[in-house]
Amino acid sequence: MNKEVKSEGMLVVLSAPSGCGKDTVLAELDGRVENLRRSVSMTTRKMRDDETDGADYFFVGESDFESKINGGEMLEYTRYNGHYYGTLKKPVDELLKKGETVVLKIEVEGAGKIRSMYPDAVTIFLVPPSMQTLEKRLRKRMSEGERDIRNRMAIAVCEIKHADSYDYIVVNDQIDYAVSDICSIIRAERLKTKRSLNSICLYE
Ligand code: 5GP
Repeated sequence: MNKEVKSEGMLVVLSAPSGCGKDTVLAELDGRVENLRRSVSMTTRKMRDDETDGADYFFVGESDFESKINGGEMLEYTRYNGHYYGTLKKPVDELLKKGETVVLKIEVEGAGKIRSMYPDAVTIFLVPPSMQTLEKRLRKRMSEGERDIRNRMAIAVCEIKHADSYDYIVVNDQIDYAVSDICSIIRAERLKTKRSLNSICLYE
């Protein structure tokens, strides 16, 4: 898990407490940044009414997930709120080899693992304007019961303490601003010398 991986594409890690609006931000990013590919994670949690298997997540049972772990197919995985969540290695590697920008929407522990394997990964932490707003958003979603909301709020408090290990912090107060901040980060990162040296053309 700790081996450093060299890649040609760009890996972007987006973390945020549950309910902070990562999915909305990601959906908006799709149309705004070219060549952005989202990694679809695998999870053992139940599918929500508004989710689609294979698009939002690959929804699997515990034994299927564990056989992927045992088969060495996971790039990283974690247990979050009683369920497995993880990133499949093969699709991410294939996209990176093609030079694509791949976005992983993962929690802080997974982000730490990715950072140690891909030191060039760009890590972004999306935060709510306040914890009260986060709780309101979780309640509005109404997809979880009270216990789950309380758990997610407690996890959020712990996660926010890790914000200082990320490259960027973006506040999701108004979605448009958050999306344009992330667009700017991705564009600027793509233009960094280490990623764009080979685009210099001296003679036509
Ligand atoms: P949710 O149940 O709200 O969809 O996701 C719960 C948490 O799991 C979120 O913080 C989300 O970013 C994280 N998560 C989703 N997929 C992965 C993954 O593949 N790996 C890790 N480490 N976390 C993930």
